Amino acid sequence: MLLLYACFVSLIIFDDVVAYNFPYEGIQLSDSDVANNPDIAFGKLPGGVNAHCKTFPGDSNWPSVDRWNVLNASLEGALLRVVPPAAACYSGIYEDATKCALVRQGSRSTNFVKGVFHPVYALINSFRNTGHDYLGRNTRGGALKVYVHRLKAFEYLPSTKIGNYQGKAARVGAALEQYELFPHMEENNITMLAPGSSTVGAYGGYMQGGGFSYITSKFGLMADQVLALEVVTADGRFVHADPENNKDLFWTVRGGGPSE
Ligand SMILES: Cc1cc2nc3c(=O)[nH]c(=O)nc-3n(C[C@H](O)[C@H](O)[C@H](O)COP(=O)(O)OP(=O)(O)OC[C@H]3O[C@@H](n4cnc5c(N)ncnc54)[C@H](O)[C@@H]3O)c2cc1C
Repeated sequence: MLLLYACFVSLIIFDDVVAYNFPYEGIQLSDSDVANNPDIAFGKLPGGVNAHCKTFPGDSNWPSVDRWNVLNASLEGALLRVVPPAAACYSGIYEDATKCALVRQGSRSTNFVKGVFHPVYALINSFRNTGHDYLGRNTRGGALKVYVHRLKAFEYLPSTKIGNYQGKAARVGAALEQYELFPHMEENNITMLAPGSSTVGAYGGYMQGGGFSYITSKFGLMADQVLALEVVTADGRFVHADPENNKDLFWTVRGGGPSE
């Protein structure tokens, strides 16, 4: 078995033609989306918005159903309106004793609890992969949740060259969990760093905060294994970062993240 100095995700660019790693990376906010929807823009807030105040459901300036529908169209229908399962246990329109009993039963399962038990968590997330952040930094009041948990793609690369590295690597989706890496390792006869717990994401908060593995004493941190990144920046752009392109972003993501 060889250590795989894995890339997070690599992007190949030939003569200005961008080849995406995985098909879902091709679904991006476009200039025509922005032109068709005054609610969204690249790189700046729309005029008249006080950045210190956040809008919540029920506020007068909360977007109408029509405006949500336009946003949803620009996202190719990916927008979900979440009703947290645990809402069944709280007084209100979703209160339901039967569903609440199921929620209480599910609360004994780690997989259930980490994602959905507390209604507030499901309502106000800003960015969520597996939901293992000890300090709840995947939550923000008055924010949309960007849910990357389904980005599970994996591709083994027997030979690749990025920066000074040449050798085996892999393209990986941001949401692969520890237990999902082992079948890929076995199939390709390789070793990759992974978190100690089965459902922690290997390339989300773990990688961004360094990432200690059982084999770190021998092979180093997860952040050291990354060869290249595809990143959606806060201004809405999809960019490539590696040792030679967007160097500052490449350096920042690998350790500037939220881990413990
Ligand atoms: C049971 C358990 C075991 C653990 N074991 C280990 C271990 O062995 N080694 C170790 O080093 N750490 C370990 N940790 C800590 C773990 O690495 C961190 O909690 C990490 O932040 C979890 O990341 P996540 O993506 O799985 O979870 P999430 O809570 O979904 O994300 C964590 C943070 O990263 C952000 N984030 C996630 N994905 C992305 C993304 N694609 N882009 C931008 N931001 C993103 C989220 O907004 C959030 O703030 C463990 C934690 C738990 C709860």
